[in-house]
Amino acid sequence: MFSTMQDVPLTVARILVHGSTIHGRSTVTTWDGTGPVTRSYAEVGARAARLAYALRDELGVTGDQRVATLMWNNAEHLEAYFAVPAMGAVLHTLNLRLPAHQLAFIVNHAADHAIIVDGSVLPLLAGVLPQLDPTLKHIVVNGPGDRSLLAGFAGTVHDYETLIAGRPDDYPWQTDLDERRAAALCYTSGTTGDPKGVVYSHRSVYLHCLQVNAADNFALTSRDTALPVVPMFHVNAWGVPHAAFMSGANLLMPDRHLQPKPLAEMISQVRPTVGAAVPTIWNGLLDELDAGDYDTSSLRMVVIGGSACPPALMRGFEERHGIRVVHAWGMTETSPLGTFASPPGGLTPEQEWPYRVTQGIFPASVEARLAGPGGEFVPHDGASAGELEIRGPWIAGAYFGGAGQDPERPDDKFSEDGWLRTGDVGTITPDGYLTLTDRAKDVIKSGGEWISSVELENELMAHPEVAEAAVVAVPDEKWGERPLATVVLRPGASADLRDLRAFLAERIASWQLPERWTIVETVPKTSVGKFDKKVIRARYAAGELD
Ligand code: ADP
Repeated sequence: MFSTMQDVPLTVARILVHGSTIHGRSTVTTWDGTGPVTRSYAEVGARAARLAYALRDELGVTGDQRVATLMWNNAEHLEAYFAVPAMGAVLHTLNLRLPAHQLAFIVNHAADHAIIVDGSVLPLLAGVLPQLDPTLKHIVVNGPGDRSLLAGFAGTVHDYETLIAGRPDDYPWQTDLDERRAAALCYTSGTTGDPKGVVYSHRSVYLHCLQVNAADNFALTSRDTALPVVPMFHVNAWGVPHAAFMSGANLLMPDRHLQPKPLAEMISQVRPTVGAAVPTIWNGLLDELDAGDYDTSSLRMVVIGGSACPPALMRGFEERHGIRVVHAWGMTETSPLGTFASPPGGLTPEQEWPYRVTQGIFPASVEARLAGPGGEFVPHDGASAGELEIRGPWIAGAYFGGAGQDPERPDDKFSEDGWLRTGDVGTITPDGYLTLTDRAKDVIKSGGEWISSVELENELMAHPEVAEAAVVAVPDEKWGERPLATVVLRPGASADLRDLRAFLAERIASWQLPERWTIVETVPKTSVGKFDKKVIRARYAAGELD
C-alpha cells in the first residue's frame, strides 16, 4: 500500500521563497576589501527575480540550459545561485583557479549558454575565450573590471546591474519542478584526467541542506552568521548558502579577500558565528590570530574539511583562541557532506579528542562500506582498512553525460551495484567513526605494508617550528616506495632536518620514518587549496627536490 501523504517536490525554488520571505530580514554581507556591504534576503530574492526575468527574456535562457558563474563568494553570486535553478535552468559553477584550458574544456563540455563573471576575474575569462565553442552566447559582467578584454567575444556582453534594472521583483519560480531534475553542475578538479561533471538534483540539494542544518552538523539557525570561506564554486560552498536561506542564518561573504589579514578583520568586525574552509586557509588564519589583536569571540565553531585537518591546528584554535574546530569529510561527488566529527555524549573535553580528530560519522541517509585490498568488504572494527564506498540520496551515481551509468561508458568510480568508490582509504569503528589514512593514490606502499602520508604529516605539523608538511611516496629499489617528507619551516625557525627526524622518530614506528627529507619554501597547492602531491612527486622525479 502507498502512503496517503502529499507528494511535494523538494526544490531549490522552495528554499529561495522561504529564505526571502520568512527570513527576509536576514542579511548577506559582502566584504569589499575595506568593509562590509549588506543586503537583506528579501532584496536578494527580489534581485534574483529580476535576474531570472533578464535571463529568460533578454538572454533567452529556456528549459535546463546551463548558466555558468565565474565568481567569488558575494551577494550577486548568491542571487545567481538561487535564480538559475529556481527558474528551472542549471547553475554551473566554474572554478576560477583552474588553468584556462581546463576551464575551456568544462564550459564547452557543459555547453554553457551564458557566463556571469565578476569584473575582477575578466583577465582569466579573456584568456579562455579563444578556446570556447560558439554555444556560449552571453557574458554578464558583475562589478568593475576591464571590459575591453572581452572585445574578441562574438556573443553579447551585458552589465549585471543594467541587465536586471527595472524588471519585476517577483518571478513565477518553479517550486513544483520534478525534484529529480538537475539544479546545479560542478566539475571535479580533474587531478587525474579530464574534469568530470557532477549534476546535483533539486532533491539532493534540498536533502543535503537539511543535513547541513541538523543539530550535530552546522546546525545553522536565524541567530547565526555563517562565513563560507570555502568558495561557492567548490561543491556549493559545502551547502552553506542554501542552508542559510533555509534557516535564516546571515551570510558573510569574503569575495576575493581570502588572505589571513582581511579574514581576521572581517571576523572581528562582522562577527560571524560559524566558519567553513579547508585546512590551509585556517592554518594561515591561525598564524594571523596568534600574531595580531583580533576579536574572534563571536565564532562558536569553525568547520574544517577538504583535506585531513592536522590535530595541532584544531588544538591551536581551541587552546589559544577558544574556537571550537569541527572536522568534516566530503567530496564533489557527495554534495559534499559525507561525515561530520561530532563526538558522542557523556565525555570530558579530553576524552572527546580521539573522536574529534577522526573524519566523523555518516548521517542517517548515507551508508558506507570498506573494500579491502582484494576487493572483499572488511569489518567496521576500527582496524581493518579498505577503500571507502558510499551510497545515499545526495551521493553521485554517475557523471554528466552518463559515464558510470551507461554500460557503453563504464567508470571505475562506481561499483557494479552503483556505490560511489571514493578513492579514500581508511577504517570505520563499530560505532561508525571514519578515519581516513590516505587517498588510495597517495598511500605509501612500502615492502607490502601501507604507510599513511597523512599520519606523518599530522605528526610533523605538530612541531612548533613547522608551518606545513607534505609527505609523498617516491620509488625505492628495495621497498617499492618510501616516504619523502617536504617541510615548510616557520620564519625564524632554528630546527634543522636532523631535529625534525628525531621529533618524528619519537612518534611513529621506526620503519615508517622517511629517509628522504627536503625543506621547501611552500607546498604546491591545487586549485582548491589542497596539497598538490602530484606536483611534488613530479618535482622529485625531475631531481628538483634532492
Ligand atoms: P578533488 O578530488 O579535486 O580534491 P574534492 O573537493 O572533491 O576535489 O576532493 C575530495 C577529496 O578530498 C576526498 O576524496 C578526500 O580525499 C579529500 N578530503 C576531503 N575532506 C577530507 C578530510 N576531512 N580528511 C581527509 N581527506 C579529505
